[in-house]
Amino acid sequence: MIPVDLHCHSTVSDGLLSPREVVRLAHARGCELFSLTDHDDLRGLADAADEAHALGMAFVTGVEISVSWGKHVLHVVGLGFDPENAALKQGLETVRAGRWERAERMAESLAGAGIPDVLEGARKYAENPEMISRAHFARYLVEIGKAKDVRSVFYKYLKPGMPGFVEHEWARLHEAVKWITDAGGVAVLAHPGRYEMGPETLRVLLIEFKRLGGAALEVGSGCHGAADVSRFGKLAKEYGYLASCGTDYHATNEGAREPGLNGDLPFGCEPVWTRWLPN
Ligand code: AMP
Ligand code: MN
Ligand code: MN
Ligand code: MN
Repeated sequence: MIPVDLHCHSTVSDGLLSPREVVRLAHARGCELFSLTDHDDLRGLADAADEAHALGMAFVTGVEISVSWGKHVLHVVGLGFDPENAALKQGLETVRAGRWERAERMAESLAGAGIPDVLEGARKYAENPEMISRAHFARYLVEIGKAKDVRSVFYKYLKPGMPGFVEHEWARLHEAVKWITDAGGVAVLAHPGRYEMGPETLRVLLIEFKRLGGAALEVGSGCHGAADVSRFGKLAKEYGYLASCGTDYHATNEGAREPGLNGDLPFGCEPVWTRWLPN
C-alpha cells in the first residue's frame, strides 16, 4: 500500500509546525498522499497544497471538525472538499467562535484550583488565537511544572471531571457531515478508538453517522494500537464504511507518530483514498 497520511495538524490549530513544515516532514518520511486536517479551520490548506505541489506529493484538502453528540465529543475529518465552499467556511467560523469564551472558562476554573493566569500562558502557544485549545493549555501547564509531559497534564487537569475541563457545545453531527459532503468532500469518523463509549453506543454511532452521509472510518490512526486497527477494520467492513488512515501528528515528542508513515489497513478494507491517488 502506498504511504498516505490523511490526518495531521499544524500551527493553524494545535500542531507545532507550520503547514509548509508539516508537508515537508511528511514528504521527507516517504509520504505520497497527504492531507492537512487542522481542527475547525481551513487557513493552512493553501500553503500546504502549494508546498506539496512543489515537492510533487499528492495533496487532499482536509479539516477535523469538533462535534458534540449527546454527552460525547467526536471528531469528524473532512477530506477532498472545495475549500472555498461558503457554507463550510461559515459553519467552521461558528465552531471557532465558541473557543475563546470556553478558554476563559477553563482558565477561571483552573484559577479556582490554585493555578492563576493560565489563559495568558496558553495564549503564547496559540499562533491562531481563534483556535486556542486544550493542547495549548497543556503545553503551558507543562512549562510551569504542573506535570512532566502533555499526556499527564491531560489526565491531571484537562479531562472531564478535572479542574481545567468545562462543558462546551461544538457542532452537531448532522451539521458537520452536511458541511463536508455539500462541499463535495468525504466525511470520516476520526480515531474511533479514542471515544470513551461502550460497544453498543459505538454501534448506534456507526449507524447514525452512516445515515447522515458519513462514508469512512479512520481505521489506521496514531491513536490506535494494533487491536484497535483490527477491531475498527472489522467494523468498517461490517457497516460498509471505507477505511482511512492518518497519524494525527501534532508535534514531535508529544506522543503520537511522526507524519507520513501510515497506510497499512487490515485485509479486506477498502481505502478511502483510491480516488485521490496520483496516476
Ligand atoms: P480541544 O479541541 O481544545 O478540546 O483539544 C483537543 C486536543 O487536545 C486534541 O486534538 C489533542 O490534540 C489534544 N488531546 C486531547 N486528549 C489528549 C491526551 N490525552 N493527551 C494528549 N493530547 C490530548
Ligand atoms: Mn489536536
Ligand atoms: Mn481528534
Ligand atoms: Mn487530530
